[in-house]
Amino acid sequence: MGSARSVDIGGVKFGGGAPVRVESMLKTPLFNLEACIEELSVLKKAGCELARVAFPDESHKRALAVLADKSEVPLMADIHFNHKFALAALDCGVPSIRINPGNMTNARGLEEVLSAARTNGAVIRIGANGGSVNSAQNEKYGRGARALAGAVEEQLEPLIDAGFENVIISAKSSSVPETVLANQILDGKYPFVLHVGITEAGSGIDGAVKSAAGISVILSQGIGDTIRVSLTGDSKTEVDVAYGILRSLDLRKKGINMISCPCCGRRRVDVGALCARVKAMLPDDVPDGFTIAVMGCEVNGPREAAAADIGIAGTGDGFVIFKHGTPAASGKISEMENTLAPCLREAFTS
Ligand code: SF4
Repeated sequence: MGSARSVDIGGVKFGGGAPVRVESMLKTPLFNLEACIEELSVLKKAGCELARVAFPDESHKRALAVLADKSEVPLMADIHFNHKFALAALDCGVPSIRINPGNMTNARGLEEVLSAARTNGAVIRIGANGGSVNSAQNEKYGRGARALAGAVEEQLEPLIDAGFENVIISAKSSSVPETVLANQILDGKYPFVLHVGITEAGSGIDGAVKSAAGISVILSQGIGDTIRVSLTGDSKTEVDVAYGILRSLDLRKKGINMISCPCCGRRRVDVGALCARVKAMLPDDVPDGFTIAVMGCEVNGPREAAAADIGIAGTGDGFVIFKHGTPAASGKISEMENTLAPCLREAFTS
């Protein structure tokens, strides 16, 4: 699974057999330093393992240095165009940067960046997305996935020529088929750590579904080492959706695995409302991989969710709690919390 090579960013290993990592990007501009620190703290709690931060120019150097010092999540500074900004970011102590060597028309500038990254042990991510492919690349490689992969190769070449291989590569498009094919091409050619995602995936359910479709197809082929779910929305949701994808693929167990039935004519309880009540009872430190099922009826529910650590199913006049499919307690629906709480406590510690 994943790339043969690995990189280390702030003590976190990417690739080379490490678990598929979860990334996000700060939505807060660097000039709002306190809000950036708060956002990073939320991301850390959610399980984010690498946070990208836009570094627009050197005027934000002090803020980036503070962030690099305080952040518990390893940072990747996102640089556009000017190699001096990359040097400034590295000078701030960030363990990784994202650049586009194609935009750095000054070859000497790229050499300086590679030299500084070597000195600091910093990782460089390069990559292309659908919007950055130019007409010459479309003509040379053919439109779509091949142009996308070709654009990445063009960015990678000067780094390989310079013997700099502490890299992560990525090819993203808002088209799932295009992104899948581009990643297949790159994975077949290079041993480098591969960052996977669907760019500009959208918001809410649309964005989550598109990201899940693309990322799952790629990871299921054993391709990819680190993912970002790019959503129009808050960064914590990106991390939550990413872990949801990884849990669904049995690649990571972080967080709770919540099962609930789709309801049918047999349902004896409002499953949606019951789910919300059960979720509200869960502490932040639920053991990773713990499975809770909320089912609409006691006839099929326990059987349909027999693998759950704890299940709760509606009955005619209340609910029944079951452990691994076996009834363990019951009560009135209005008093569900009182009965469920000790069962959860016992299950978390067993
Ligand atoms: S658990 Fe009961 S209510 Fe829910 S889908 Fe199955 S049969 Fe229908």
